[in-house]
Amino acid sequence: MISEHPALPPPVSRPWLACAGAACATAFVVSSWAPALFLVAIPVLWLSLRGHAVVAMIVTATGLAVWGASAPVDPVPPGPISGQGMMATDVLSGRYGPYALIALEDGAILADLPPDAVAARGDLVRLDGLATGEPGTVGGRQHRGTVRVRQFEVIGGPTSPIMSLGNAIRERVATRLTPLVGGRALLAGFLVGNTDGIAAIDEEAMRRSGLSHFTAVSGSNVALFLAVVFIALGPIGVGPRRRAVIGLLVLPVFAAATRFEPSVLRASVMAGIGLAGRLVGVSLEAWQILSAAVIGLVLLEPELVTNPGFQLSVAAAAGVMVGARWPVDRRLRTLTVAIGAQVGVAPLLIAHFGLMPLLSPLVNLAAAPMVALSTVLGVVGMVGPGQFATAGAWLAGLVLWLARFASGWPQIGWLGLLTSASLVLLFFVLPRLRGGVAVTAGLLAAVLILGQSEQPPSPGVVVLDVGQGDAILVSGGGGHYALVDGGPDPVRLISALRRYRVNRLELVILTHVHADHAAGLTGLIGRVSVGEVWADPEPHRAAAADEFFRLLAVDVPVERPSVGQQWALGELTLTVEGPLRRYASPNDQSIVVMVESAARSMLLSGDIEEIAQRELVGLRADVLKVPHHGARTSDLDWLVGVGSDLAVIPVGPNDFGHPSDMVIETLEDSGGVVHRTDVTGDVVVPMG
Ligand SMILES: [Zn+2]
Repeated sequence: MISEHPALPPPVSRPWLACAGAACATAFVVSSWAPALFLVAIPVLWLSLRGHAVVAMIVTATGLAVWGASAPVDPVPPGPISGQGMMATDVLSGRYGPYALIALEDGAILADLPPDAVAARGDLVRLDGLATGEPGTVGGRQHRGTVRVRQFEVIGGPTSPIMSLGNAIRERVATRLTPLVGGRALLAGFLVGNTDGIAAIDEEAMRRSGLSHFTAVSGSNVALFLAVVFIALGPIGVGPRRRAVIGLLVLPVFAAATRFEPSVLRASVMAGIGLAGRLVGVSLEAWQILSAAVIGLVLLEPELVTNPGFQLSVAAAAGVMVGARWPVDRRLRTLTVAIGAQVGVAPLLIAHFGLMPLLSPLVNLAAAPMVALSTVLGVVGMVGPGQFATAGAWLAGLVLWLARFASGWPQIGWLGLLTSASLVLLFFVLPRLRGGVAVTAGLLAAVLILGQSEQPPSPGVVVLDVGQGDAILVSGGGGHYALVDGGPDPVRLISALRRYRVNRLELVILTHVHADHAAGLTGLIGRVSVGEVWADPEPHRAAAADEFFRLLAVDVPVERPSVGQQWALGELTLTVEGPLRRYASPNDQSIVVMVESAARSMLLSGDIEEIAQRELVGLRADVLKVPHHGARTSDLDWLVGVGSDLAVIPVGPNDFGHPSDMVIETLEDSGGVVHRTDVTGDVVVPMG
């Protein structure tokens, strides 16, 4: 059966696929040119020998072009700098204010812009500032260093008409959809990949429900865009050749409007190759088009190969091709396509994010028609009556609702992926076993869903596994809960609280303003009721904490607790031990809390470092929440001095070297047991 309806690429595509693979490998080793050229040489030689001379020439030419384009970055000398250049990105909003990449005559710089700076990609600008930082990369693009810009002025629009048109489309979408919130913000994402107005928690919900590929303009919109253009042009666009020419002319405009979003780039280049083929009378097979697009793109812009958006887009396209040809009943076709796309991206999702949503094919089946209709209404609303855009935004709001709803559904890792992939394969390959396979899958899913609810100890403390950051649930028993910090991720925090069935927090303590403690707290808004907040937003400030305070309802009191202040939480008492004074470092400014029951005590120490630790003399506790994710910023004598027999380190994947081996060894040598959340998951500390 399967051999009659090949789901795998036909033999003719194999050299193309091999070439695409070689191109990706080349891009991966792009920092070292000798092996890269060697890798290009192999397929070129092989293709030439097999009579694919044209492909060989393309590979060689693009390889050489990339080689010629690569030049080592020389850092911008520190000191005053002024000049003219072109905006290489839009103005982006960062943790410390707006910034952008600006291409000056002798290379790109990362510009920290004044708070009121307005400019679009492609604009010509003049700037005056102070060069400070080291070279680095932003969104995969290299720059020569950071410049703190003092004077900033737009002196002209883009020199390229394509970019101007793209900017005009983008501006039209932004103005027509203002205010960019909720469904309106998501529709701007569907249309041109403008994600400025999408709240972090909604973006996260889209990811966790398996819908993130829609958030910033899906590759499938390229086809939609072309269709709209052909319809709009009416009789001018009749005939395959004219259409091909028009398509080739307008594709770059769409790519510019969507800021060369990797998925659009992939789909546009594929559409372009298909149209060009039609123009010269060559019909290309889908696998050849995908391979050629990958080869061209990664050789022209090798950084793309490490871009998750590009990887996911290519994998999804390949998955759709396999799914569309899978030998099954035609009624199951939409399902096999959805499953194909998800199976294609699954390993990448797990590699990048650690988890993937188990039921994303189902969520996608439900969302895809809504997204498509919303996008079409949005397009009509951009060129015609605004009511269409409003209707489109309403539908996008529905997609958002679905995403939020499905974001709490089970997520699976590598093991879950292997299990579900085997079950799906069995379902399609062995029709006679379908009933049994379906029952097994249902049972496994039920176990996954039901197994998610847990009972927090009462009284007790749960140091939640929320990645690199702190989020600590304190349960006083009898439904009395407090939360100390929210971790870096709203959705992880909310799913953890849901797991323990926590709907109300009497007290929320934000130890200090850093994002790995504050960013997750925004997830509480509108989902978990909060009685009171203890925080100290001054003298240090950060965007993540400001966002939380901004969103917090006006009737929730926010208090800066003083040392010695207490909170009774069921059978537990929380006592403030620090900060003792104003510190220069936000970490030292952490609110330090002792949690005590009649039987045990636990010290929650925020991120305090040596200076604050040395001033907190004589604190002792049975359990220690190790400060600052176990970083080597602690006074080792102080750590030992707390005298705990159990030390808990909340930590996740990070580049800071947390936790330090020295800290762990010191704690273990002093006779304590050390638990870390990245190894054991949630660490439950009974306090009874
Ligand atoms: Zn921290």
